[in-house]
Formats: sequence, structure tokens, C-alpha cells
Amino acid sequence: MTQNPAAMPDASGFFGPYGGQLVPPHLKQAMDDIAAAYAEIAKRQDFQDELAQLFADYVGRPSPIFHARRLSAQLGGAQIHLKREDLNHTGAHKINHCLGEALLARFMGKKKVIAETGAGQHGVALATACALVGIPCEIHMGQVDIEKEHPNVTKMRILGCKLVPVTRGAATLKEAVDSAFEEYLTNPTDYIYAIGSVVGPHPFPMMVRDFQSIIGREAREQFQAKYGRLPDHVAACVGGGSNAMGMFTAFLGDESVRLVGVEPSGEGTDRPGRHAATLTMGKPGEIHGMKCYVLENADGTPAAVHSIASGLDYPGVGPQHSYLKDLGRVQYEIASDKECLDAFMTLSRVEGIIPALESAHAVAWAMRVAPTLPGDRHILVNLSGRGDKDADYVAKVLGI
Ligand SMILES: *Cc1c(COP(=O)(O)O)cnc(C)c1O
Repeated sequence: MTQNPAAMPDASGFFGPYGGQLVPPHLKQAMDDIAAAYAEIAKRQDFQDELAQLFADYVGRPSPIFHARRLSAQLGGAQIHLKREDLNHTGAHKINHCLGEALLARFMGKKKVIAETGAGQHGVALATACALVGIPCEIHMGQVDIEKEHPNVTKMRILGCKLVPVTRGAATLKEAVDSAFEEYLTNPTDYIYAIGSVVGPHPFPMMVRDFQSIIGREAREQFQAKYGRLPDHVAACVGGGSNAMGMFTAFLGDESVRLVGVEPSGEGTDRPGRHAATLTMGKPGEIHGMKCYVLENADGTPAAVHSIASGLDYPGVGPQHSYLKDLGRVQYEIASDKECLDAFMTLSRVEGIIPALESAHAVAWAMRVAPTLPGDRHILVNLSGRGDKDADYVAKVLGI
């Protein structure tokens, strides 16, 4: 029997055959302790109230939904709407789960919060949440990303976190995860690893999803209130998959709503190492303590990946996405670096909204599909973050 997607995971952290806790015994104990602490705070009213208050007063929630009228008219088809996670404090959806994780760390009496970061968004959001809560924070970041995402690096330093540059291998997100994990393993009792997406061993895929699910709860209610109906399509970009799960969760039970996750096809899915379309091109495997779709080399090691968006270049993907793909409940599509850049510029010039390169993948998919649909159809896109961090890079690439 298949699980009800809205009730996942099971007690062992499985989403169908995906997820679980593929970790050594002492680490399994640490994960079980986190799961138990999370189960306790999740049902405590004082915790829920504190998080809700921070969402409102600190993050600026609810984030609005915006009807992109000029973009829709220009494309000449379905109406495109944007859930404005780019307007959150720190500029993306990641602050939602970072606040949750920082509050959990405080509740558990942890002495240090450790994490990796790709585009730097998770690092900035976590350093922010740790400053607010008052816990030391250590962020591992690939050297390639450090050079590409300079403004975020500066922000992390200002926010008082310890930044650890990672130079091994391709020096991007995967290596940063490995490095941060090694530091965590030196003392899993006193440290907590704040995973930056719906990935890793249980309970993280569940916990990060729960903290992010505010996105879809708000968006569903806002859309209903505005239009008296639900959107026809709901789309979000997928790296590890947290903004997408945050958006999709509220809609899983709505059969009329087509859910679309957009993966980065980079320079082409026919070019191994030059894309990060894990669900589209990968196969079931293991990475970072979980079972999920993985992009692998012939020898079973994780493949090199690439996307113009640093936050999307990860060779694994959340276990719940892996299961939702197999169930056919979510459709996974791709957008290339080129389409992403085009969407980035179009949204900037037609609506005055500069999107994160990650989010621009979801916008690119909507721009491709909208003209094929009638004008009374509605596409809701999760605009996961703002593009300030990418502006200099894009200007250089396009020679603006
Ligand atoms: C990190 C990031 C992503 C990718 O992470 P998910 O876990 O897949 O959401 C997407 N958009 C933005 C703006 C990000 O910072």
C-alpha cells in the first residue's frame, strides 16, 4: 500500500522506500535525540507561539502573492502569480527553517550550530537565526561559491559566524556538506548540524519540511481568498527541495492542482557533470545519510554537478520528492542555465522583481508553459528568493 503523501514519513523516517537514517550507530542516537526533541517542541504551544511571532515580526510573514500581470500579458496565456518569499528578512525562504532549527538547538542546550551553505543563503539565514537566538554558528562553504557569492560571505562575517572555506574536490556544495559533517561528527552531543534543505537523515527531511510548510499554507489561503479557487499549477525550483516541499505540502491533497518541481539542466542533461537534474536523470541510491534519487558516476560515487544557481547544484534530492516522483503526484521538469538567465532578466525588466537564479528556474518553466494554456488558467510560482546576491554575477555573464 502506498502511504498518504500528507502523512509522511513513517516512524523510521521513510517516505516509501526513500529517506531513513543511513548513519553509524552513535550518529543514529544523535538523530533520534533530535527527533525526540523535535517531537516534543512541535506539540508545545509556547514553541509554536514563539515561532509564529518570529515569522510575523522578524521574517515579515505572511509574504504576499503577486499577480504578474505584465509578464502574463506578454506571454499571452495563463496567469502567473508569485509567492514572494524573496521579501522575507534575509531574502529567501531559508530563514523559515533556520529559525526553527535555532530554536530547537536552544531547546536542546546545544553549544554550536554547524552547517554547510551553497549560494550562501542558508549560511546567512542560519547566522541570522543564531545571532537572534544567541548561539555560536559555524558555516562551511566551497571556495568556488565563496568567490561567486561574495556579498553573502561578507554578511555571514558581519553576523558573527565562523566561516570555514572548503577547497577539496569541486569546492562547491557537496564538499561543503562533507566538511561540515566531519566537524559535526567530532561532537554530536554538544553540536547540532542544521541541514539546509529537506535532505539528510531523519528527522531533517520531515522537520525542515514542517518549518517550510508555512509557505504553502499561506499561499493556499491567500489564493483562495483572492480568487475563490485554487491555482491550476503550483511550481517551485528543486535543489535539495525545501522551498518546493514548503510550497507543495499544503496542496498535496488537492487533486485538481498540478504540482511541478523544476530542476536545473545546466548546460544540458546530455552533458554529465554539467547539470544537476537529479530526479530527471538520476536513479535511486544513497547520499548523506538517506535513500533518494542520486546522480552517480559509474563507480557509485556522487557525480559532479553544475547549475548557474549555486543553491541548486546538489547530486541528491529530498526523499519525499523522490517518493512523490515515483507516485506521480509531482511532475519534475527542467530548466537550463540559459532559460534561467532569460527568466531572470525578463522578470526584472517586465515586473521590476530581480529573482534569485534558483527561483528563476521555476519562473522559466512557467514562462515556457503559460503560452500553451488559456488565459483563465493560473500558475502559482514560489519565488524562493531575491537576486541581489546574483546581480553582479549576471551582469558579468551577460556583459550588462
Ligand atoms: C537554497 C535556495 C534554493 C534551493 O534549496 P531548496 O532546498 O531546493 O529550496 C532555492 N532558492 C533559493 C533562493 C535558495 O536560496
